[in-house]
Amino acid sequence: MINYQRELDGILETINDSKLLLHACCAPCSSYCLEYLSGYFDIYVYFYNPNITERNEYNVRKEELIRFINNYPFNKKVYYIDGEYEPDKFFSMAKGLETCKEGGERCHKCYELRMRSAAQKALELNCDYFCTTLTISPLKNSQVINQIGFNIEKEYGVRWLPSDFKKKNGFKRSIELSSEYGLYRQNYCGCVYSK
Ligand code: SF4
Repeated sequence: MINYQRELDGILETINDSKLLLHACCAPCSSYCLEYLSGYFDIYVYFYNPNITERNEYNVRKEELIRFINNYPFNKKVYYIDGEYEPDKFFSMAKGLETCKEGGERCHKCYELRMRSAAQKALELNCDYFCTTLTISPLKNSQVINQIGFNIEKEYGVRWLPSDFKKKNGFKRSIELSSEYGLYRQNYCGCVYSK
């Protein structure tokens, strides 16, 4: 098993005046990742989550993220970037995988769908790296997420920033920040199959 938190630490020591595209799944997960990474990068926070089945839920998660970004006292620049809401893309990806257990093949493809879009956006915005908040979740396999990230890096030519944000008490800190900022914390991942 690779320690991706250690890999991230190594890269952060070399960072100087760089721009990061951070794919964000929701405000609670983003809170710690942003607090941590904004010590090193100017960040474009990209909300792209076609996996969220209900429009109302999608809007609430997005608004909470914007509220956190507008209220947290960051040292560096942090910009919000609105992705398209494309549930059809999620459902065509999930075809035939509806009964997969959470954390299985459907989820791996779901991470990839969102991370590919993040890499494309990183290229458009001329970012030095792309990354995702998804590795903060204790329910998501960071080995799989980082492997997908490195594959996309090869394909698109934009550097993947490896992570395992749940380490160093990252998940615990995200709960503290959520409570401090009164952030809405959903009790399911996002798609209809996880509800
Ligand atoms: S459970 Fe979560 S990660 Fe898995 S497919 Fe549904 S939204 Fe995507």
